[in-house]
Amino acid sequence: MRRAPVIQVHDVSKTFRLGQIQVHALRGVSLRIDAGDLVGIMGSSGSGKSTLMNILGCLDVPTRGRYEIDGVDVGEMDEDDLADLRNRKIGFVFQSFNLVPRTSALDNVELPLAYAGLHRTERRRRAEAALDSMGMANRLHHQPSELSGGQQQRVAVARAIVTNPSLILADEPTGNLDSHSTEDVLRIFAHLNEEGRTVVLITHEPDVADQTKRVIRLSDGEIVGDTRTLGVFDRPPALHAQKSAHRQPAGAGIVEGPS
Ligand code: ADP
Ligand code: MG
Repeated sequence: MRRAPVIQVHDVSKTFRLGQIQVHALRGVSLRIDAGDLVGIMGSSGSGKSTLMNILGCLDVPTRGRYEIDGVDVGEMDEDDLADLRNRKIGFVFQSFNLVPRTSALDNVELPLAYAGLHRTERRRRAEAALDSMGMANRLHHQPSELSGGQQQRVAVARAIVTNPSLILADEPTGNLDSHSTEDVLRIFAHLNEEGRTVVLITHEPDVADQTKRVIRLSDGEIVGDTRTLGVFDRPPALHAQKSAHRQPAGAGIVEGPS
């Protein structure tokens, strides 16, 4: 059975104008991503990955072409609808974590819920549950500067999922992490995908892309490759069994605990 497309990009181009110079960041990109997929987008620096991610996340608009999310043309939506869509449907994770400094993990994760207009008690409860699911229950009141890179990224992932979005967009989420934290964070994304969320992971690290189900390659603003991979779920049984041991009910810790 064919799954529903979450993302449909039709011949999208993005040109930045810098004075007299035009930078063609994307050149006629077409792309479909179905619900429940775990997609890696790869390409060297400057190939247009972040530009594409910003368009997928409705943070930027194409110069040409059309973008549909869940079948709705984003070009037809006004700013309010877009903000609402971003807040309800999409969770963002960035390389540099983008946490609010001098603000506790709990308050950082509560932030998207404040926009959603939830009551304070409910906000707190959900933020705690999200942090707990990231193995951060014992770091609720730590500020970003008091956390390791891996821990900060887990807080950022908690913030991304606290609104229960169906689509997670991550732009080089492991770019600032050591190999141990990279594995942790990748496991978290795989788990979020197992829960049924669509995950798009931008990376330039080949071993990170190995953890996805599909790899799309960008070069100079164009798609030059799109392949199904032997993702974590298709690995030999031994590895798979090991992985399944991490599978726990939603809300339970899916990682061993902060390192
Ligand atoms: P990647 O994320 O793959 O490194 P980007 O999407 O950030 O690549 O950038 C693609 C190209 O577009 C690069 O040449 C970059 O310099 C250019 N670019 C990106 N954002 C802007 C901008 N806001 N203004 C001008 N040029 C930009
Ligand atoms: Mg980038």
